[in-house]
Amino acid sequence: MVGAPPGVIVVGAGLAGLAAAVELAGEGLPVTVLEARPHAGGATYSAADGRLDLPVDNGQHVVLRCCSYYLDFLRRIGARDAVWMQRSLDVPVLDEVGREARLRAAPLPAPLHLVPSLLAYRHCSRPARLRILRAAAAIQRLGETERLQADAVTFAQWLHDRGQQDEEVARFWELILLPTCNAYAGEVSAALALNVLRMGFFEDRRAADIGAPVLGLSEAHVDPAVAWLRARRAQVRLRARVATVEPGEGGALVRLADGETLVGLAVLAVPHDRLAGLLPPAWAQERWLAPALGLPTAPIVNVTLRFDRPVTETDFLACLDPETQWVFNTGRLRDDPVLDGRVLTVSLSAARDALELPERALVERTVAALRRVLLSAREARLVTWRVRKEPHATFVGRPGCEHARPGPVTPAPGVYLAGAWTATGWPATMESAVRSGVAAARQLLRDLRVQGAPMRERERGGGRRGTRPQARRE
Ligand SMILES: Cc1cc2nc3c(=O)[nH]c(=O)nc-3n(C[C@H](O)[C@H](O)[C@H](O)COP(=O)(O)OP(=O)(O)OC[C@H]3O[C@@H](n4cnc5c(N)ncnc54)[C@H](O)[C@@H]3O)c2cc1C
Repeated sequence: MVGAPPGVIVVGAGLAGLAAAVELAGEGLPVTVLEARPHAGGATYSAADGRLDLPVDNGQHVVLRCCSYYLDFLRRIGARDAVWMQRSLDVPVLDEVGREARLRAAPLPAPLHLVPSLLAYRHCSRPARLRILRAAAAIQRLGETERLQADAVTFAQWLHDRGQQDEEVARFWELILLPTCNAYAGEVSAALALNVLRMGFFEDRRAADIGAPVLGLSEAHVDPAVAWLRARRAQVRLRARVATVEPGEGGALVRLADGETLVGLAVLAVPHDRLAGLLPPAWAQERWLAPALGLPTAPIVNVTLRFDRPVTETDFLACLDPETQWVFNTGRLRDDPVLDGRVLTVSLSAARDALELPERALVERTVAALRRVLLSAREARLVTWRVRKEPHATFVGRPGCEHARPGPVTPAPGVYLAGAWTATGWPATMESAVRSGVAAARQLLRDLRVQGAPMRERERGGGRRGTRPQARRE
């Protein structure tokens, strides 16, 4: 007799949890997702904003074409059109007084595609440009063992060891590093930074094409993922805070804050700084887990501004001014002809100073900085604004992090880990979150097949019901 497929409890409905749930429900397993907050999406969500006339994200999110797991996830849930992608890398870079250089991909094979724009990069001196090219060649040649050894030092140290000077670190390398790793070169593990640079910029001519959602994040991928899951009989339960997870025989006993308990296989997809609170205290001391639980976090602050007239004609731009960093034409990205050029989002990474400033002072600082770099903003009047501060937006991949981050497998059979902070080789990104969720789900499925567990047919909404994670109220 064929039994019912086992039920899986996914704790956390961020992208990692949603991606794991999609993978598992797609294989026919009965899945219950438990999310503490009143909305799914974790670090990616949006809310309507009457002042700005559009849904505002908790923070502008950007992807590169090499974020293949995230883009596949969108395709699978039927939401690929929610992300616009430029045809070829092209970023205007403005210096502190608004002079423009462009980082763009030439029609040449990688890594030569970047050489013409690096040679013409006016924000660095000619010797600095040649030094950048030498470091780029070293990154391209780097073997995997050498990259992992670089986990012992910061990226700044790695660059200095290869002849790079402060000028090009601040005026070129950090332009890429800050938004991707949410950290400065002096903080981040060289291994992590090198992975981003290698995958995004030196392996494939199209890998670094930049994309961004054309909808608020909730509409772009959260709501479609939840609808996709529910259509396959998966449960997504909001306001369902998990209090404790007790690993047991081939799974876990998951206790909710309201006393309800569920028993099943478990994928724990909560942020690293929340995990210790759920697990038995001894787990948090384990050598395979403790260093990752201690990873520091860094803030991201977004300032969305609405002007009375268009102040830019580009989709986005990068600025060397630390008070503007990356500026997105939110009106254009949302395809709103009225707000195009008028509603801009200034996204500040590793923004410890901005986090401390009162909102009004931050807005004044940001508008003044924008007026320094964008001539057209000087005459424009600020109509309204919205500040979004995320104090613990992402983990910081300090040296040692690549060895500290655990994979999906835990010592407890039937209990798996996911989350952007786990061992994906990526910094804290949507790509890392989706990769981690898929990795945890695939490991769980492999383990089930080894045990000969029954499975339902793939990707069917209907069919025989499996065993839901068992609920019991105490
Ligand atoms: C402002 C900002 C800007 C960003 N910009 C970018 C960008 O441009 N590009 C990019 O790729 N990435 C960006 N990121 C990073 C990216 O959003 C995250 O790396 C990713 O979304 C993390 O997903 P996750 O599922 O691992 O974790 P989370 O999204 O944190 O999800 C974890 C979930 O677990 C839930 N949870 C926690 N404890 C419990 C509990 N006890 N019971 C039940 N549920 C629980 C949480 O409520 C949350 O929903 C940005 C992040 C922020 C905050």
